Amino acid sequence: MSDLAAFTAGLADGSIRVVDLTSPLSSDTPILMLPEGMGQTAHFELEEISAYDDRGPAWYWNNFRTGEHTGTHFDAPIHWVTGPKEDVASVPPHRLVGPAAVLDVADRVSSDPDFLVEVADLEAFQEEHGAFLDGGWLLVRTGWSIHAGSQEEFLNADEEGSHTPGLSAECARWLAQDSPIIGLGVETVGTDAGAAPTFDPMFPCHSLMHGAGKYGLTQLQNLDLLPPVGAVIVAAPLKIVGGSGSPVRVLAFVGS
Ligand code: MN
Repeated sequence: MSDLAAFTAGLADGSIRVVDLTSPLSSDTPILMLPEGMGQTAHFELEEISAYDDRGPAWYWNNFRTGEHTGTHFDAPIHWVTGPKEDVASVPPHRLVGPAAVLDVADRVSSDPDFLVEVADLEAFQEEHGAFLDGGWLLVRTGWSIHAGSQEEFLNADEEGSHTPGLSAECARWLAQDSPIIGLGVETVGTDAGAAPTFDPMFPCHSLMHGAGKYGLTQLQNLDLLPPVGAVIVAAPLKIVGGSGSPVRVLAFVGS
């Protein structure tokens, strides 16, 4: 049997499961809020064109408006000033499919929303599960997606800023420069920790990962349904010409 025939047979008999890692996209989807005076991303909104009525008797359809970085979305290198000017339409398709390593830090985040993954955590993961794979994604399970029903809880901000988990600057540098990983996926509103405006460099996951031509995925869910290694993900953003990012449907294939 060819590899692809074995794959489709596995899908048919259920020995390969398809897990949807995408958050629902609606006007209730939480969004990033930048300080006052800066440009802001838009909520997702549907605008009805017709619904089997005078405007179109047999069809229902909508226009929509959204930020590129609203909901579960893909960050392309052009998003950051440090990155190559690769827009979301230019990402080679083979880089939209790859193996996923899933680091689970949900226990530590539950007692510390400001928790930061360190290089030692990634080294310990590789000791236990093997080296990160070339062209693979690192998905960090923080459990933060349980807050996605509330904009306020999801951003978890006070006068100091947002309290949400992420990676330390040193860890982001290691992932960007010393690992074969091509992208970082997270459950939070952006790839960086809530405190990242104060890091050096600021927003290191954006600055260093995009600076190295790597990608980001945000607002993932269902990461608890993935094994630490062995799953394959498909992260296919809209092919927006000139786009810095795009809402994305992220699917994982999980073997038995
Ligand atoms: Mn983004």
